Amino acid sequence: MKCYECAREGKNTDAVGICIVCGRGVCKEHLIREETPAWEGSYPIELKSDQEHIKRIVCVPCHVALKENCLFDEVC
Ligand SMILES: [Zn+2]
Ligand SMILES: [Zn+2]
Repeated sequence: MKCYECAREGKNTDAVGICIVCGRGVCKEHLIREETPAWEGSYPIELKSDQEHIKRIVCVPCHVALKENCLFDEVC
């Protein structure tokens, strides 16, 4: 899988992770490892057990969207 963000910039970079929100591939430059607090039971997508290790990776656009929606911020 290729990085979606890099593809938009005309680059061709292998993805190292998958955004948990939109499911797009992201390279190490474009992934964000969110320290999500207990995001209880309501992940945007259902995670399989073998995806646990990547569950906190989101892409840049989704990170922005999630911040705007205060999903990561308990004191919003
Ligand atoms: Zn990238
Ligand atoms: Zn995303």
